[in-house]
Amino acid sequence: MKSTEQLLKLDHELVWHPYSAMGADLPIFPVVSAQGVRLRLADGRELIDGMSSWWSAIHGYNHPDINAALNRQLQSLAHVMFGGLTHRPAVQLAARLVEITPPALQTVFFVDSGSVAVEVALKMAMQYWHGKNQPGKNKFLTIRHGYHGDTFGAMSVSDPVNGMHSLFAGALTEQFFAEAPQCGFDQPCTADDIAPLQRQLQQQHRHIAAVILEPVVQGAGGMRFYAPDYLRQVRSLCDQYQVLLILDEIATGFGRTGKLFACEHAGIEPDILCLGKALTGGYMTLAATLASREIAAAISAGEPGLFMHGPTFMANPLACSAALASLTLLLQSPWQQRIEKIARLLQSGLEPCRGLPQVKDVRVLGAIGVVELRQPVVMQSIQPRFVDAGVWVRPFGRLIYLMPPYIIDTADLQQLTGAVTEIVSKI
Ligand SMILES: *Cc1c(COP(=O)(O)O)cnc(C)c1O
Repeated sequence: MKSTEQLLKLDHELVWHPYSAMGADLPIFPVVSAQGVRLRLADGRELIDGMSSWWSAIHGYNHPDINAALNRQLQSLAHVMFGGLTHRPAVQLAARLVEITPPALQTVFFVDSGSVAVEVALKMAMQYWHGKNQPGKNKFLTIRHGYHGDTFGAMSVSDPVNGMHSLFAGALTEQFFAEAPQCGFDQPCTADDIAPLQRQLQQQHRHIAAVILEPVVQGAGGMRFYAPDYLRQVRSLCDQYQVLLILDEIATGFGRTGKLFACEHAGIEPDILCLGKALTGGYMTLAATLASREIAAAISAGEPGLFMHGPTFMANPLACSAALASLTLLLQSPWQQRIEKIARLLQSGLEPCRGLPQVKDVRVLGAIGVVELRQPVVMQSIQPRFVDAGVWVRPFGRLIYLMPPYIIDTADLQQLTGAVTEIVSKI
């Protein structure tokens, strides 16, 4: 291909990036390779990755075990349709997921992305109530500041302000929203915290198929952490009002919060669980929706006797193989100790930001560190400053956050937190 300059020119002319405008004058950096926690740019600079490519590259980049698993799978079967056919990587991965997730979850539906895993979860909940002869239970209840993806169903349950519901009014299904709890992770969940959701359930449960939540950590909707006790109360309210509980662990799953799945902080189980992001260790796009046997049975027994979904690339064998290798790596590693150590270093490294007039809050949970500012960052100027400091950090809005690969060492993590502290202090 052409020179880096030509590449950037074509990129600018032809290629959309996530949440971007065409022709915008924002800096963009060409990556040529990555190894461990380092991204290598076309100009030879190396950046320490603080993002894990949006929660996904938990083992770092270019890992020999996942590379080998993909190479092996490539020799026999890159892809085959999943209608009427099956293969070992899919079955083994399903068995593994059922084994490591809460016991109620006993069936696995593979999809291509997190957003679609959420669509599938919503459709499962609707078909469940249809199968139970309660087709009026076809709406969803959630809390504000959530993020569940970019497709229409997922958007309809994401924060109405961040998700620009007004822009899509008419096309977007109107769902029920409750105020999010104010209790931080370590704080007690009070009656005031649970009352808004309780009220909605009390008044609307006849119309509600399921409550959908990101457990304990609300990710892209604001990086908010809330008390596990809130989840416990939601679980019992769902049981009381005969509403299903969908947990979206697409961001929180696979150890990031210090538990393998964030719902373990609360000791509760969902009826339906969405997984994605770190599932393949950041190698391929793959997500999954798990459900209980009871849900599977009600869907399969009701009209039309089928679950109405089936992506072309369902259970792609390469992606399933990468996921199996990633899970083996994770579960054989001392991941709990690694997350605890990252949490300690994030705490101490980001602490100097607390008390700065431009900083509203600093919070850490597991391998997630957040500096919340009072004003939104100016991407045009802040992004190059991080790159000049040798780190890859991608803020959004008022949030500068770190969620490094679990394999990061002390020195690299200190360089990350040092860069954040230095750059925040000069905003
Ligand atoms: C990223 C994310 C999604 C959407 O996943 P995609 O793979 O980007 O479609 C859904 N829910 C949560 C909690 C996420 O963090």
